[in-house]
Amino acid sequence: MERIYLDHAATTPVRGEVLQAMLPYFSEIYGNANSLHWFGRRAACAADDARDGVAACLGAKSSEVYFTSGGTEADNWALCGAARANAAKGRHIVVSAIEHAAVLAAAKQLEAEGFEVAYAPVDADGRVDLSRLEALLRPDTTLVAVMAANNEVGTLQPVSEISALVRPRGILLFCDAVQAAGVLPLDVNAPAVDLLSLSAHKFGGPKGVGALYVRSGVKMGKLVAGGHQERGMRGGTTNVPAVVGLCAALRLVREEQAQTAAHLAALRDAFAARVLQGVPGAALTAAGAERLPGIAHFTFGGLDGEALLYSLDLAGVAASAGAACSSGSLEPSHVLRAMGMCDAVARSGVRFSFGRENTAEEAERAAELLIGIAARLRARGGDHA
Ligand code: PLP
Repeated sequence: MERIYLDHAATTPVRGEVLQAMLPYFSEIYGNANSLHWFGRRAACAADDARDGVAACLGAKSSEVYFTSGGTEADNWALCGAARANAAKGRHIVVSAIEHAAVLAAAKQLEAEGFEVAYAPVDADGRVDLSRLEALLRPDTTLVAVMAANNEVGTLQPVSEISALVRPRGILLFCDAVQAAGVLPLDVNAPAVDLLSLSAHKFGGPKGVGALYVRSGVKMGKLVAGGHQERGMRGGTTNVPAVVGLCAALRLVREEQAQTAAHLAALRDAFAARVLQGVPGAALTAAGAERLPGIAHFTFGGLDGEALLYSLDLAGVAASAGAACSSGSLEPSHVLRAMGMCDAVARSGVRFSFGRENTAEEAERAAELLIGIAARLRARGGDHA
């Protein structure tokens, strides 16, 4: 069976060029980057180059880039590290209601420590409401967290406007750019942010490696004690092949950004048009908002999203209910709920996320398969309402 992978927001294949760049650092140039000898120095050189490369792609200084084990760790660190280190100034933070679980769970942890957390609401398209965000800001607010683009529905967030709103008040802005990094232009100065997270496996790099940008001068707590790595902030022997892979992947996406975005948007729009035409009751989520070029999320009024996903998988199409971690759970997505959907509609949600390897033929075939499956499920009375 020909399989069609439309779950690139969950993860992407490692690109051949990235794998080639990483390979020498497993068993040829294997020194510990902290060792002073020749073996160590060669590894350190590669890690330094990777840091310089990532910094250049972000418009940052090398000293502002910290390597992490991925997006979740970078998000946790950004929130907890900045909130705790700035607690003397205030113990109030604001996070958007549609953040990834990596941010929301860290916010809950801070609440348990006595911080106050306010959740910024979004409109029906999943876009943070600026005036309602502004109304949440207080003299003791130290940090605002808003992602660049949502991972479930793809809505781009008004990061420039939020930056202009919060930074002049001395409030730090953290931006989770995990989904945006592979497809949108990225620059930590336009819009200006204080902290920004990345994860390599979302854009053709390996799993288990990411980065946190921390603007120089920002007070930040340590993440892992025990070593001098990452300037003493995150101890642990540097994963040299992984950071080399992160840098190689980021360089490629930066070079190809405009053409990748155009390719993905064409696939997304052709797919969406066919699905809306062929599936009665289908609605494109966040249709009125600027969205990530690769994500098409739908609700299929009356159908069960999980039943659709199982049938799609049997037919060879890999899609997702939204956040990978919420698949299989009965809880409807917090993102769709925040957008004002009722649970029944939210449970019919399915996300299709395209990648640079997908073709127009695949998008067309996936749409036809989906149209057939939706018709069969509806005929069988697949309604959950
Ligand atoms: N933030 C967003 C917006 C994501 O989509 C994800 C992954 O799904 C993460 C953070 C977590 O990244 P990682 O899988 O590298 O831990």
